[in-house]
Amino acid sequence: MSTLGAIDIAVSIGGVSIIGGLTLSFKPGAVTALVGPNGAGKSTLLTCLAGLRRPERGETRLGGEPLLSMAPRERARHVALLEQTPEIVWAVDVRTLVGLGRTPFLGARGLTTEDREAVDDAMRQAEVAVFADRPVTSLSGGERARVLIARALAGRPQWLLADEPLSGLDPGHQLDAVALFRALASRGAGVIVTLHDLTLAARMADRVLVLARGAVLADGAPRDALRPEVLAQAYGVEARLAEGAAGALIEVVGRIG
Ligand code: ADP
Ligand code: MG
Repeated sequence: MSTLGAIDIAVSIGGVSIIGGLTLSFKPGAVTALVGPNGAGKSTLLTCLAGLRRPERGETRLGGEPLLSMAPRERARHVALLEQTPEIVWAVDVRTLVGLGRTPFLGARGLTTEDREAVDDAMRQAEVAVFADRPVTSLSGGERARVLIARALAGRPQWLLADEPLSGLDPGHQLDAVALFRALASRGAGVIVTLHDLTLAARMADRVLVLARGAVLADGAPRDALRPEVLAQAYGVEARLAEGAAGALIEVVGRIG
C-alpha cells in the first residue's frame, strides 16, 4: 500500500484561488476526515488527489509516482473517488451499476468470476444485496448512496476518497458506513472522507484535516484538530467539545458575531 500525497498543489478557477499551495501526505491504514465550510475546497482537493483534476501548480503522487502520469485505468485501480451526489438518471439495476466499479479491470470478455465475486462482496458490505435486481432509480436517496459506496468498493481500491458519503444516510446506516470505512482502513486501505457532522468526524477518523479557503487550518488527531478556536475560525461558530456516551461530542452552540 502506497502513500498518497500532494506537493504544493494550487488550483484556481476563473482567476479565483481555490486551493493555494497545499502539501499533504496520507498514509494508508487510516481514516482521514476532511472537514471545512461550504466552498472550502474539499471536493476540489479530493478530485486532485484522485488524479482527476490537474492542479495548476504542484503534483499529486501515489507511492512517489505522479498520479497524472499513470494511465487512467491503472490509476483507477488504485484510487476510487466516490463523488458527492452524482446523478443517476439511468434506470440500470443495482448489480450492473455496482459492476461499473470493475471497469478498470475489465478485459475483452467482460466480467470474470473474480469480478462477479468482487461485486457481490461489495454489495454485501454496503448492505445493498437485497436491492441487487432493482432499478437504481427506484431507490431512496440513502439507498442510492449505499449503492454508490458499493460501486467504489467493487474495485477493491487501495484508496477510497469519498465526498460526503454519509449525508443522505439515516443514523443507523451512517454508523454502518463508518464501520465499513474503519474496516477498510484496518485491512490496510487508505480512506479520506469529507463530511459536515463534526461529532461523526471525531469518532470516525484517525486524523482530521480542517480546510478553509483552500488552506489547512488544523491537521491532527480529532480532539486537537477540532478545537473550539479552530471551529470558530473555520465556520464562524462557537462550539464545545464534550464527552458523550460514545466518545467526543461536538456541540455547536451558536454563530459568532
Ligand atoms: P467544498 O467541497 O469544500 O464545498 P469545492 O471544492 O466544491 O468546495 O469548491 C471550492 C470553491 O470553488 C467554491 O467557492 C466553489 O464555488 C468554487 N468552484 C468550484 N468549481 C467551480 C467552477 N466550475 N466554477 C467556478 N467556481 C467553482
Ligand atoms: Mg464539496
